[in-house]
Amino acid sequence: MDSGDFRRFGYELVDWIADYLDHAERYPVLSRSSPGQTKEGLPAEPPMQGERMEDILADFREIIVPGITHWQHPRFFAYFPATTSGPSILGELLSAGLGVNAMLWQTSPAATELEEVVMDWLRSLLGLPEAFRGVIQDTASTATLCALICARERATDFRISERGIPGWAGEPALRLYTSTEGHSSVEKGARIAGFGSEHVVTVRTDEDNAMNPENLRRCIEEDRSNGLHPCCVVATVGTTSSTAIDPLGPIGVIAENYGLWLHVDAALAGSAAILPEKRWILDGVEKADSFVFNPHKWLFTNFDCSAFYCRHPDILTSALSIQPEYLKTGQDCRVVNFRDWGIQLGRRFRSLKLWFVLRYYGVEGLQERLREHIGLAAGFASWIERSADFELMAPVPLNTVCFRYRPVGATLPEEELEAMNRELMDDVNRSGRIYITHTRLRGTFCLRLSIGQMRTDLDDVKMAWEVLQQSDVVETRRRER
Ligand SMILES: *Cc1c(COP(=O)(O)O)cnc(C)c1O
Repeated sequence: MDSGDFRRFGYELVDWIADYLDHAERYPVLSRSSPGQTKEGLPAEPPMQGERMEDILADFREIIVPGITHWQHPRFFAYFPATTSGPSILGELLSAGLGVNAMLWQTSPAATELEEVVMDWLRSLLGLPEAFRGVIQDTASTATLCALICARERATDFRISERGIPGWAGEPALRLYTSTEGHSSVEKGARIAGFGSEHVVTVRTDEDNAMNPENLRRCIEEDRSNGLHPCCVVATVGTTSSTAIDPLGPIGVIAENYGLWLHVDAALAGSAAILPEKRWILDGVEKADSFVFNPHKWLFTNFDCSAFYCRHPDILTSALSIQPEYLKTGQDCRVVNFRDWGIQLGRRFRSLKLWFVLRYYGVEGLQERLREHIGLAAGFASWIERSADFELMAPVPLNTVCFRYRPVGATLPEEELEAMNRELMDDVNRSGRIYITHTRLRGTFCLRLSIGQMRTDLDDVKMAWEVLQQSDVVETRRRER
């Protein structure tokens, strides 16, 4: 592609994206594509001859866009927000243009040093311990895996990375603790890091769905008396189902007393700690060994960008650094080579978009938006509370509301309530006007509305409430009464 075409189509695509972000609500939030539909529109083999950009873009609009679920739609309330923003997209564009691989300091000194600087900025914004050193990973899953590897290595004096797992069979099994509300990435990491699913101990939660520290202590004691080796605890600040906040203070004391690695998974909720009035969610983080949160969730930085902090970069690099001749450089003793801080060798230049976002909005600009989201969630929760036909299923400390439909006056068995709520969810999602998802809290099926899109405002949340109340499931019941 010559620079003339690149300019022409580049400008055209920037226009397309600008219109898209301004009017994402023209599309149904949840794609109406059926399984296989996108594939049907595409040839089985790549073209032998190059094609015209006009044709490629036409197919993008006609074949790809219908199969898109619109995460940037202001009424995307599913899962968690993954919101992008103008400055983030521009940073990503530059990163693509530079095409840098930031594996070593030398392969782009600015990429490494900017990453160090923005990670220090975020550390201070969230009030994380000074001793934490940061690195950008692709996802929280990867960061948590790195934390589990560190925990494993510290607990075994680096024997597993040296001798492998079978090399020391006969040793007591390493045990990993997280709450029953811990994220699936903890178990996945435990499998990959060699703990095994069986050794992930799920600690019971309290009424508010947060880990009960006394239960944690009991699980550890029990394991010790059974000859097992307690190794690591993963606390969650902002659980995926209901944004419950595990109490880091008491958990940290227990981790310290028993010599456990404390990893804090704050993938979604960590961003909220930039608000002075919400910083309490990280009270006790001083005792953590590692910490992760995702600017790609709720800090307006497009996917992917996960901020991982470790108090002991020496443990991280001892576990993950391999030194082949071809990667050695003359500066290795004076600089950071981030290839040694994670799983991948090749690394994207992600700090650029994060830097753009932090500078463009400024701390106050970011705080303002998060405050607005939290306020909207509180508003929605209050409508649920006041409604006779809906009930709140969990406290709402941040941006996520768990609730369900339970028609007043009817005493319905749980299975029927669940079926009704599933139907309600499918019905509102089919409308294309909102998109919500579900979860289960202490066995009970709940609907979930999570707010964090850059463009979501009060009207959007009001519409969500209307769409729910006007659903056939609710209307039919109301008419029957
Ligand atoms: C979203 C989420 C994750 C997983 O994040 P990825 O970056 O997609 O791996 C982990 N933990 C919690 C609490 C989350 O909310």
